[in-house]
Amino acid sequence: MKTIGLLGGMSWESTVTYYQTINEIVKQTLGGLHSAKVLLYSVDFAEIEKCQAEGDWEKSADMLSAAAENLEKAGADFIVICTNTMHKVAPRIQRRINIPILHIAEATAEELKRRNITKVALLGTKYTMTQEFYKDKLIDAGITVLVPGEQEIEIINDVIYHELCLGIISEISKEKYRLIINGLARQGAQGVILGCTEIGLLIQQKDTDLPVFDTTQIHASKAAMFSVED
Ligand code: GLU
Repeated sequence: MKTIGLLGGMSWESTVTYYQTINEIVKQTLGGLHSAKVLLYSVDFAEIEKCQAEGDWEKSADMLSAAAENLEKAGADFIVICTNTMHKVAPRIQRRINIPILHIAEATAEELKRRNITKVALLGTKYTMTQEFYKDKLIDAGITVLVPGEQEIEIINDVIYHELCLGIISEISKEKYRLIINGLARQGAQGVILGCTEIGLLIQQKDTDLPVFDTTQIHASKAAMFSVED
């Protein structure tokens, strides 16, 4: 079994889900008392969020690269960056290590293709929804990406940083998200990507008729399966 190097803490609320999901899948796959071999480097999210807000992606890339180097030295066979947004600096982290990064958007694109989705709504932080680093992975896979309007982007982003990353789950915010998802469905989205690792704490499949693609579940499942494959 390969050892998974989790780069977590962004936020820790969703890193918990990664740890649990990975172990559940390894247990289901191998049976008995099997559990995942995991190394976790959990950063201080306040330091990362400060870099994001200041647009200092270079500094955040340095911090995450140092953490990834430590995971490699400790024996990780591959790296899982437990956030969509910080995949913005995944290429810079990859240049500093000799083990692969399992990319969250590539794993999501694979799952969308498997389910024959060609037009999808993307919810995430404002960085993920408005910049190219994430959407390009989906577009490269032949998928059309719909994002909400400007005001809706602000609403989604605020809920992520001021509620979900702090462990606050609000019915009012859930309703706001549902309205936004319904609007994107009317524009022709065949599914919705929960493209922030905390959104699954608020929205699940039961909350919408549109097929939900929860990146935390997809990414964690992919990591678990990769770890047990030959
Ligand atoms: N976990 C979130 C994501 O998947 C947001 C936190 C962050 O900015 O890393 O994008």
